Amino acid sequence: MSDYDLEIDQIVQKIQENNYQSVLIQFPEGMLDKPLKRIKKILSKENLKVYVAGDPSYGVCDLAVDLAKKLGCELLIHFGHSQFGFQNQVNSASSESLDVILVPAYYIPPNALDYSPLITEITKKKWKTVGLAATIQHIKSLDDFEEILKVNDFQVIRYDSGQILGCHVNSLYKGMKDCDGFVSIHAGYFHTHGILLNTNKPLIQFNPYSGSIINYEEADHHKAIQQRFTLLTKAKKAQKWGILGSSKLGQHNWKMISNVQSLLAEREINNLTVVAENINPQVLANFAFIDAWVVTACPRIAIDDKIRFFKPVVTFREFLYLFDQLKWENLLEQGFF
Ligand code: SF4
Repeated sequence: MSDYDLEIDQIVQKIQENNYQSVLIQFPEGMLDKPLKRIKKILSKENLKVYVAGDPSYGVCDLAVDLAKKLGCELLIHFGHSQFGFQNQVNSASSESLDVILVPAYYIPPNALDYSPLITEITKKKWKTVGLAATIQHIKSLDDFEEILKVNDFQVIRYDSGQILGCHVNSLYKGMKDCDGFVSIHAGYFHTHGILLNTNKPLIQFNPYSGSIINYEEADHHKAIQQRFTLLTKAKKAQKWGILGSSKLGQHNWKMISNVQSLLAEREINNLTVVAENINPQVLANFAFIDAWVVTACPRIAIDDKIRFFKPVVTFREFLYLFDQLKWENLLEQGFF
């Protein structure tokens, strides 16, 4: 069972100092077992009401501020993410009546992680300069790995602490030209897919839970890009466009919606703006007359859910490409979202 640093002492101190009466806690789906039970047990010793947000939480873009306010909570504790990439939204979430605490929940491995197979792999590939990345839970493991690389005489490139989000791999672009390849510490394929689509260097993924190493090469980048190309070719034929917005605090982007509306209006193309809290295939299915959609909320909706949607759904940058505001090379060099 995985363990995480839940910063319990700091949380309890804050609760006692402020004498909060009720708190809402929000966890990503993967942490709804042991970490939730642990925090619930600790908070039950304090004299306050504890609520747990039941809707899925995919990122800090998804702070349950409205729910906390409806419940009359004075504190929202959001686990599993930092404010990285969403500083403004996090600042605006805190108000006189609601405090917000973000707890990144760094992973605590049961035993020291063994990086020697990774060093062997990098040596085999003859890399000299290694670009580093990790999801927030594994940033501390990335610190350790960086030290080991340096001791082994590798050059290291690491921007913005190396942190990546599903929608944000800018820390990798910055070092892309200068490194031989990337090592990313994370689990699952979601972040891998984002890296493959938005960078052009070989990638080694190290899964800190299983210790497994997966290599991704040029063909994997091509496959991810080819899938987008096929979808964009279909979207190009659309006569009626839908513009998808989200009402979530960290995903609502009126400026982007307005840009899309203007571009479609200039070309006298029929369009409809639809805003939902959670965008899913059922929402889109209600608008069968729309030929293609552009998503102004989480860009991963367009990427990861494409098989479940009946119509092409494109990211904002892909839309700009379709409407001649960006070149194909811009997508290849600076990403598809
Ligand atoms: S916008 Fe999407 S990818 Fe970015 S943090 Fe939110 S849920 Fe994750």
